Amino acid sequence: HAATKPPPTPSPLRNSKFFQSNLRILVTGGAGFIGSHLVDKLMENEKNEVIVADNYFTGSKDNLKKWIGHPRFELIRHDVTEPLLVEVDQIYHLACPASPIFYKYNPVKTIKTNVIGTLNMLGLAKRVGARILLTSTSEVYGDPLVHPQEESYWGNVNPIGVRSCYDEGKRVAETLMFDYHRQHGIEIRIARIFNTYGPRMNIDDGRVVSNFIAQAIRGEPLTVQAPGTQTRSFCYVSDMVDGLIRLMEGENTGPINIGNPGEFTMTELAETVKELINPDVEISMVENTPDDPRQRKPNITKAKELLGWEPKIKLRDGLPLMEEDFRTRLGVPPKK
Ligand code: NAD
Ligand code: UDP
Ligand code: UDP
Repeated sequence: HAATKPPPTPSPLRNSKFFQSNLRILVTGGAGFIGSHLVDKLMENEKNEVIVADNYFTGSKDNLKKWIGHPRFELIRHDVTEPLLVEVDQIYHLACPASPIFYKYNPVKTIKTNVIGTLNMLGLAKRVGARILLTSTSEVYGDPLVHPQEESYWGNVNPIGVRSCYDEGKRVAETLMFDYHRQHGIEIRIARIFNTYGPRMNIDDGRVVSNFIAQAIRGEPLTVQAPGTQTRSFCYVSDMVDGLIRLMEGENTGPINIGNPGEFTMTELAETVKELINPDVEISMVENTPDDPRQRKPNITKAKELLGWEPKIKLRDGLPLMEEDFRTRLGVPPKK
């Protein structure tokens, strides 16, 4: 019977006066890098009320400090692997450590976050009739055999590797989203996010852009992991947030790739950071980690056609926008 069930009736609370005029939005993982920029953008709209649920594993209250105490904002310390009862209209489900050193730190917790966390947020969406957006990842394509990656590609993923808690976890999360959609009529949106960078990235998260910028500012060698010919495509965070909001507001379930198709080798990235931030630093080649994808570049035809979205900020323009934030947090005074 479940397959023919009508979409759930919104909770009676949503009929209150408040709900008629405002949109109440839950952002899980909203204290993190992308989440906090998303909250900034959502809070610009006076009709939005934003609730953040975060366990602060990789995020921080600091990222949200300008909103704490604001009447349309609420911050809850909550782990999404536990059930959550709130009345909301939309759920942006971001909660999950995103950088390899953090998601490998406690892989069992990472997969619980992806699977049980997403299940809980879908249960919540079902109960209150909310639309839910999952931030999936380009890692669902694994070490891709198709280049650039389009959404119809099923991927080349190692199910038992050290990255599997993350990439297979996100794959299960996508499956859960579609099963709740087909079985319970939940309105879903899935974004497959490609590497994103910008202010508020964790300084010590081991990601290539944050590493290179911090190293350049500290005057340390930029550590290119061998062979340096592996490629990535980097999207500036404001473009990413725009894409996520367009996806949520549009009519398409996805999955839709959101990323910047500009593709760079890690050696090229190091040279660009050196040129823009500190021409005096060296570039050194260091050992890589297992299962590192050799190339990654989004095909964003679907995002262009279905969302009218494409990134605006080029890598050369975005990298310098991180410098001030990183200098402040590293305690290194600005360049003369
Ligand atoms: P982030 O680590 O800065 O943010 C993740 C947030 O989730 C943090 O605030 C963290 O404390 C919180 N969190 C983690 N586990 C939780 C749990 N069990 N319960 C509640 N909160 C929890 O990472 P980000 O770069 O902002 O990534 C946000 C989302 O985007 C993630 O889902 C990630 O998988 C996805 N994504 C990011 C990138 C990227 O390049 N940054 C690429 C692909 C996908
Ligand atoms: N859930 C939640 N908040 C809610 C409703 C459900 O966190 O408002 C959780 C619930 O605890 C369950 C999961 O979401 O573990 C899936 O809920 P669903 O109703 O789909 O499944 P069931 O509870 O029937 O297993
Ligand atoms: N990388 C690098 N130097 C660093 C950190 C990472 O050359 O200090 C490389 C890494 O080997 C990978 C790429 O940069 O090929 C992107 O790594 P990151 O961890 O930032 O993202 P992901 O692998 O998740 O795309």
